[in-house]
Amino acid sequence: MTTTAPTSVNDAFAAAIELLESARTATVLCHVQPDADTIGSGLAIALVLRRRGVSVQVAFASPRELPESMNELPGRDLLAAPDDVRGVVDLVVTVDAGSRGRLGTLADRIDAADACLVIDHHRSNTHFGTLNIVDADAESTTAVIVRLLDAWNVPVDADLAHCLFAGLVTDTGSFRWVRPGSHLLAERLLATGIDGAAIARKLLDNHPFGWLPMLGSVLGSATLVPEAVGGRGLVYAAILRGDSAGLRSEEIESVIDIVRTTSEAEIAAVFKQQSGDEWTVSLRSKTAVDVAAVASRLDGGGHRNAAGYTAHGTKADVVDALIDALG
Ligand code: 5GP
Ligand code: MN
Repeated sequence: MTTTAPTSVNDAFAAAIELLESARTATVLCHVQPDADTIGSGLAIALVLRRRGVSVQVAFASPRELPESMNELPGRDLLAAPDDVRGVVDLVVTVDAGSRGRLGTLADRIDAADACLVIDHHRSNTHFGTLNIVDADAESTTAVIVRLLDAWNVPVDADLAHCLFAGLVTDTGSFRWVRPGSHLLAERLLATGIDGAAIARKLLDNHPFGWLPMLGSVLGSATLVPEAVGGRGLVYAAILRGDSAGLRSEEIESVIDIVRTTSEAEIAAVFKQQSGDEWTVSLRSKTAVDVAAVASRLDGGGHRNAAGYTAHGTKADVVDALIDALG
């Protein structure tokens, strides 16, 4: 595989469209522990390809099931279980994945394809495709996809808008982290007739009762370390396996959004126990610290103000390792 380095964003879109138009078979890969941005982006691209007669599958390596909050997204019938993802296709498209590692066991599908188109908005993206469209200023990967569809003259109908809005509303924190143009994009998607309130409620505001006692226990043991990060402060909480028994990823992923509001801390972290000594960690910063850089030092990645990584050890070990990495 050779890597093409287009000179401008428009050239990159033109090259991407050429790849998408010449593929007869394609696989769209979303990142592990998928969120609504990766699934919304993947399903939107796959719906467009299917309409053009391309034989296309969408997949993520783990967990086995699509998060329940995403089970009404149009195009979900295009999802294939990891074992059923074809070995050889003309084109692999990855969406919202900053590195090969984020594709889990499906990363090898890239090597067997003629070309790999990477579409993403993570500053830490490693440009692992043969063609890489990475806009670190974009609110969501779905926002990058809208621009690609516009360049491709593909009209955005209600089904596509539903998928694209899902990524936009979640990655902007319900339109809190926005920039000029974000609301215009939302308006354009809503004008297709989608029910934005219902989509947002299903994705963000819909938890079983067991969420409340879980929050009580996890937030009740949150810890503030005012002296961390040169006195800027760290707040953290840990979700042990026992805390989250019977709950979905949606409940677990909601915790960081509460912890991060602590005014005494520049940095917030949530340690999510996966098994005995394995933890996935969510990091957030307010303004001063680039947590993507911190996460990169710990073999993860992400955005300036939202990043993550995987850690191993006891709770005390992984907390100490983070405090060290924060300096
Ligand atoms: P979250 O805390 O919501 O899981 O992730 C925050 C951001 O960091 C997301 O953009 C996500 O893609 C990225 N991220 C989370 N975990 C990892 C990781 O292990 N590796 C990399 N490269 N990025 C991650
Ligand atoms: Mn995203």
